[in-house]
Amino acid sequence: MFETLSDRLDKVFTGLRGKGRLTDADIDATAREIRIALLEADVALPVVRAFITSVKERARGAEVSGALNPAQQVIKIVNEELIAILGGETRRIRLAKQSPTVIMLAGLQGSGKTTLAGKLGRWLKEQGHAPLLVACDLQRPNAVQQLSVVAGQAGVDVYAPEPGNGVGDPIRVAADSIEHARRTMHDVVVVDTAGRLGIDAELMAQAAGIRDAVSPDETLFVVDAMIGQDAVTTAEAFRDGVGFTGVVLTKLDGDARGGAALSVRHVTGQPIMFASTGEKLTDFDVFHPERMASRILG
Ligand code: GDP
Repeated sequence: MFETLSDRLDKVFTGLRGKGRLTDADIDATAREIRIALLEADVALPVVRAFITSVKERARGAEVSGALNPAQQVIKIVNEELIAILGGETRRIRLAKQSPTVIMLAGLQGSGKTTLAGKLGRWLKEQGHAPLLVACDLQRPNAVQQLSVVAGQAGVDVYAPEPGNGVGDPIRVAADSIEHARRTMHDVVVVDTAGRLGIDAELMAQAAGIRDAVSPDETLFVVDAMIGQDAVTTAEAFRDGVGFTGVVLTKLDGDARGGAALSVRHVTGQPIMFASTGEKLTDFDVFHPERMASRILG
């Protein structure tokens, strides 16, 4: 994960070792190298610009302190700016005052929503909740069955359309599932929705319809980190079409560059809340900006 960026930054810092004091020219040269490293990692341009401006300003203003040499000082600044760009603090799920809390998943087909539903189900159960996974992806063949399988693996319940009862109408299934959750004492409802391979108007309208039917407490935009900064365009389309309150990065295990992770928070203004790092239900965790920054800096 993020190997190239880590290596690049490491080289930048190595170049600073042994310097007694950083001149403006040193800082400019360092900033240029960090800029290239971020662009190569496929970080979106506005994010790169904001990052570099901050690093430069802070490096210029940095006190010459006895405790840190210039290289360490730059590492400290870059670390803090990475944490900031990744969202600062971990943002936890907001539970509804009145049960059930509704979490809706939205994203392109193949982004990992159904797998994520299982992961969230398992994680919520571990936290002492009684989650209900709801199959509203009635588009993709086998999506309902796939959700049942992951629910089984996670040991949580699933709500799927009965034959003859609203089959083909995900909005109705979504609305009914909330009533069902109340009756059956499930306190968190996770709604899996359909995704297309590309962004399209019909998909957005359906997701917006489900959103209106269930009034989610959290809408999580699920995005495959391997698509790099294309994640930004997709995120903007989902923000405008459906709106979301948090981001889940999936397939981080296959993402060698890090562009999506480093861009999506800044561009959408919404926090990255969870990260998926594999196909197994256990390959999943709450997203910690600090830990991710340390990983990047090695
Ligand atoms: P959906 O269409 O959004 O519901 O996507 P799926 O949940 O069906 O996931 C699409 C594919 O990506 C499946 O083969 C999953 O096993 C795989 N997948 C999901 N999350 C991850 C992840 O974090 N890492 C890896 N390597 N594969 C994943």
